[in-house]
Amino acid sequence: MSPPPSTTMKAARYYGVHDIRIEDVPIPQAKEGQCLVKVAWCGICGTDLHEYEAGPILCPSASKAHPITGETLPVCLGHEFSGIITSLGASLQGSWKVGDRVVVEPVISCHSCYACQHGYNNACTSLGFIGLSGYGGGLAEYIATDEQYLHKLPEGVSLQDGAMVEPLSVAMHAVEQAGMKKGDTALVLGAGPIGCFVIKTLIAKGASTVICSEPSSSRRRMATLAGATHVLTPPREGDIIAQVKALTEGNGVDVSFECAGVQATINTGIGALRPKGVCVNVAIWSIQPKIDMNALVLQEKTLKGVICYKNNHSSALSYLASGEINLDGFVTGTAALADVVEKGFKELINNNEQHVKILVSATGKEE
Ligand SMILES: [Zn+2]
Ligand SMILES: [Zn+2]
Repeated sequence: MSPPPSTTMKAARYYGVHDIRIEDVPIPQAKEGQCLVKVAWCGICGTDLHEYEAGPILCPSASKAHPITGETLPVCLGHEFSGIITSLGASLQGSWKVGDRVVVEPVISCHSCYACQHGYNNACTSLGFIGLSGYGGGLAEYIATDEQYLHKLPEGVSLQDGAMVEPLSVAMHAVEQAGMKKGDTALVLGAGPIGCFVIKTLIAKGASTVICSEPSSSRRRMATLAGATHVLTPPREGDIIAQVKALTEGNGVDVSFECAGVQATINTGIGALRPKGVCVNVAIWSIQPKIDMNALVLQEKTLKGVICYKNNHSSALSYLASGEINLDGFVTGTAALADVVEKGFKELINNNEQHVKILVSATGKEE
């Protein structure tokens, strides 16, 4: 006789600063319009680390619920994940089937604020995320999720690559918002996961020159792996702006991407642009930087903020399916869910520069 099927699963639940607990919770049921997804791989993001070290930031607090999900702490973490559908709620038959491989687009929006009404739900005034604000998360064995959040993973794209589609979509949105054109020159400041994915996207979209500035030597290797045509070291090699101009016929780059969130990089991101160039800020800031407004005004440069993605998952998936973008080499570690704090969060905090992505699965392997 086989043992009765388990009704509980493991989930990494966030209670507050330095307090993530691996708990046994009931396996959710797919309600009407939902799929039950067995999580294959889930990436740990810088946002998760911020919650662990200084939260709750995007997570609700223990007393104040998220305005859309209505949930308070604890919440299940994990917003970058892939998985396989194991059951379907009512009314979904036909569009999805058991066994479909999927990725989750985790943005939760209100559908009624100005941004949502005008098609920019990524800038929703009540913005939330699956895996931060409620509705379960990818750092669990299962998640029941509404059809609207799902994308099918194309054949030939691995479940590990699927878990990196969310940060790749962030990069794709940033490049799109820069108005980057084929043949353009670009500067990427910072070669963490997002910086590397921005480099990949720029190369795939036909940038002629992609310069990356990054102080850490292991991250510079990642920038090279991502395809950067020139990798610069601040500040030892001196003036990055002068070096960028030297590489762009003295003019400066067409577009720059601030993916570090420090004063020196925003200065460089603006200073290294050609007249009329566009600096896209992708970083989330923990300080309030000073901006040289005259540097923008006198050369009609644009500084632009971007958040998340807007209809970028499908194109990220097709770039992966066609092989125009491959993410080989960016998974720098794997961990089992039970070890997620030690081998995931703490490893990323203590050995940050050695890693791009640590992916987590129930067992630390692919099942
Ligand atoms: Zn993230
Ligand atoms: Zn909204």
